[in-house]
Amino acid sequence: MIAKTTVTPTARLVEVFSAIQGEGLNVGTRQIFIRFALCDLRCHFCDSAHTWNAPATCRIERSPGLRDFEIHSNPVPLPILIEWVEQQNLPCLHDSISLTGGEPLLHAPFLTQFLPQVRAITGLPIYLETGGHRSEQLAMILPYLDSVGMDFKLPSVSGESHWQEHAKFLQLCHDSYLNVFVKIIVSQNTDPGELERSASLVAKVSPDIPVFLQPVTPLAVSEQFSSILMLAPTPDQVLTWQALMKGFIKHVRVIPQTHKMLNQL
Ligand code: SF4
Repeated sequence: MIAKTTVTPTARLVEVFSAIQGEGLNVGTRQIFIRFALCDLRCHFCDSAHTWNAPATCRIERSPGLRDFEIHSNPVPLPILIEWVEQQNLPCLHDSISLTGGEPLLHAPFLTQFLPQVRAITGLPIYLETGGHRSEQLAMILPYLDSVGMDFKLPSVSGESHWQEHAKFLQLCHDSYLNVFVKIIVSQNTDPGELERSASLVAKVSPDIPVFLQPVTPLAVSEQFSSILMLAPTPDQVLTWQALMKGFIKHVRVIPQTHKMLNQL
């Protein structure tokens, strides 16, 4: 008789830590962040370019919020990641677990096994942060998600163009009754026609879906990976763009990255 072998799933991680969410619908809440390695996009404004490739090691916070990181090697076996999350999960501290990156959906096969276990053990809701362009992978983990923050990448700002993928992805989130919102990074170079297209696309799925316009945060690290200068939009620009989008959808909020103001990770 041939013995059955089971392979322990693994994932390549960048870091695990506890912090205050600085963006979107969950702004101000406390989350356990699991930052996955790898991204298939190359946004000009990326502040996480260190996640693009698979690093040999990851850093793991020992005590929630104390930044007492330990270095561990990649890839990380699933039971070890569960242990690290349990270590972070002090009673009453966290509101949810954030899957971030990089692009977490590049780890969908791992997540199909990890998410049901981590939900059962912690009882915490699961929030996915994503580029919003991989609906096939989203479909694999839908049953284990509570909320999704998806990006619309404007070609004039990000250099990426994924209109059809964004539309499909948003429709799938909405049809699955997920708590979904859309985040759009805007800079002085933003093409208003792309904002109008975004608003119309959201309205077709549901005018009730919240959209967050996030003025780009100029960062030394971004400049390091891109020769394109990213300037935050002017006050007049954001007022005009919000008014434009509110012609299509109900909730358009303008919020900068608050975790950068608080000097959070
Ligand atoms: S999707 Fe996110 S991690 Fe990937 S390049 Fe764009 S901003 Fe960076």
